[in-house]
Amino acid sequence: EKLFSGFSKTRNNLSVIDELLLYWNLSDTDRVLDELEEALLVSDFGPKITIKIVENLRQDILAGKLKSGSEIKEALKKNVLDLLSIKGSKTELQLGFRKPAVIMIIGVNGGGKTTSLGKLAYRLKNGGAKILFAAGDTFRAAASDQLEIWAERTGCEIVVAETEKAKASAVLSKAVKRGKELGYDIVLCDTSGRLHTNYRLMEELISCKKAVAKVVTGAPNEILLVLDGTTGLNMLPQAREFNDVVGVTGLVLTKLDGSARGGCVVSVVDELGIPVKFVGVGEGVEDLQPFDAEAFVNAIFM
Ligand code: GDP
Repeated sequence: EKLFSGFSKTRNNLSVIDELLLYWNLSDTDRVLDELEEALLVSDFGPKITIKIVENLRQDILAGKLKSGSEIKEALKKNVLDLLSIKGSKTELQLGFRKPAVIMIIGVNGGGKTTSLGKLAYRLKNGGAKILFAAGDTFRAAASDQLEIWAERTGCEIVVAETEKAKASAVLSKAVKRGKELGYDIVLCDTSGRLHTNYRLMEELISCKKAVAKVVTGAPNEILLVLDGTTGLNMLPQAREFNDVVGVTGLVLTKLDGSARGGCVVSVVDELGIPVKFVGVGEGVEDLQPFDAEAFVNAIFM
């Protein structure tokens, strides 16, 4: 339900398709496909994906494989679903067997990093995990205060920098050591979020990664990149840069509730080959949903 209501704006954008297909007949194919193309573009599926889908449908219609509007609609959904499935990749968190599992949350400021970390903590804690926060955004003074509020809200412990000049990697290392000593299941690491073009930030993320790997073999288990869904396809260059430098294991797409550009989910997966693990569909503590491709397709196309 949350996912369905979260995607209402994108669904409204795409609802024109239903009307088109209701009255579709073979001689009308070009016009209908042109309008379908327009609806997909407006919803930020991106030109590459849009052309791929529309041409697949055209071929199947001309080959007589799709004979009614409802068959075309089902084929459209199937096309999107296929584009979302990356072979061998898992949309569930992969936390390994060593304790604590370490999840690094990265992304530019304002994208929803801290909020997503808090919501993720709530979800994992409800699943029975003992969670420790690491306040690794040592760059922005208010970041650690904001994270402390989330720690309190979710009833989790937090490790913060001891001095103003403390390095992010030192905070993360300390948190993971504490996690190991005190039997925590998961350490959720916040990181600072200057622009992805900032060389120092990228260096810092690399040293954070190395620092946690020194404490627990195999850590970090997940590096989740948080991307602002309202920016649609503009998130792509940013995501590529983070992935090239740090190696992203999963995406968290936020603010999709306020966006009519939900189609960008498909482009991002197709372009980056990284699975979307969670989507943010609101500001509440329960508004982070594990990404389920089938539920997503049903939420945007009905
Ligand atoms: P950070 O700078 O990346 O840590 O971003 P924040 O977590 O502080 O989030 C920035 C703003 O986006 C805050 O006002 C959040 O409440 C809001 N936000 C985060 N995720 C979502 C979401 O999924 N939906 C909506 N509507 N707002 C969100």
